[in-house]
Amino acid sequence: MRFHTFCSILISVCIVLAMLTGCGADQEDPSAEGSSFESPVPTEEPAPTPTPTPFGNGLVIVLDPGHSSVVSGGTEPIGPGAAQQKQKDTTGTHGDASGMMEYQLTLAVCLKLREALWAEGYTVYLTREDHTTAISNVERAQKASDLGADIFLRIHADGNTDRRRDGAQTICITGTNPYHPNLYPESRSLSDNILTAYCQETGLRNLGVWETDSMTGNNWAAMPATLLELGFMTNAEEDLRLSGEEFQNVMVAGIVKGIDNYFAGRALNGDAGSYSEWKNSQFR
Ligand SMILES: [Zn+2]
Repeated sequence: MRFHTFCSILISVCIVLAMLTGCGADQEDPSAEGSSFESPVPTEEPAPTPTPTPFGNGLVIVLDPGHSSVVSGGTEPIGPGAAQQKQKDTTGTHGDASGMMEYQLTLAVCLKLREALWAEGYTVYLTREDHTTAISNVERAQKASDLGADIFLRIHADGNTDRRRDGAQTICITGTNPYHPNLYPESRSLSDNILTAYCQETGLRNLGVWETDSMTGNNWAAMPATLLELGFMTNAEEDLRLSGEEFQNVMVAGIVKGIDNYFAGRALNGDAGSYSEWKNSQFR
């Protein structure tokens, strides 16, 4: 009996000691952190290789930030083979309230737009990336051709002596354009899609699509093209909105949506089943 009692006490003491010292098998030893005695990493099944995302969606967008601080002098034909000449470029408008020049605003927006379009898988180029490159409107359109643009998007801002004027518009060739009349339906669709989404996203007044054959850059474009007037820099309130970093993100989101809608519509129309096939049959 006494032996059994001794054993019981001994076992009890052992249990209490074990609890106090924490010698349970699951107890982690913090001193093992980073030591050379870490247990080997258990062999795991190799993770399945993720399917690589194809780079880009096969569509090329050339963005044209309007104007520059250094302007090409002289004139150039308003369209391929045209007798009528027009100034190669101008310095554009400016905003008194923001202190910004149009060429600064257009480049700022195009740089943001490039990032956003890259994220969507588009291949994106700019006709200029600084303010000191003099580049005429014909040269801008030719650059778009050289870069294999599927669409040519020209970014500008408006100015008017009437400082109350506000709102955005896109500028498109007419259906009887003397140079590329076949491009009218696509250029019009691009103009509609971008303007609609841009105005919906920003809340800016929608001034509609202006159809004219007086824009050198549009006339020389050998692919669907549009010119987006972001808003009026001569309207103090609008100028301050356009120059704001956060509002520019909203503007960019609207433009991206418009471009996506344009290409989605193009693919759905399915002249050749997909936009890529269609584009190859039309422009290559
Ligand atoms: Zn302009």
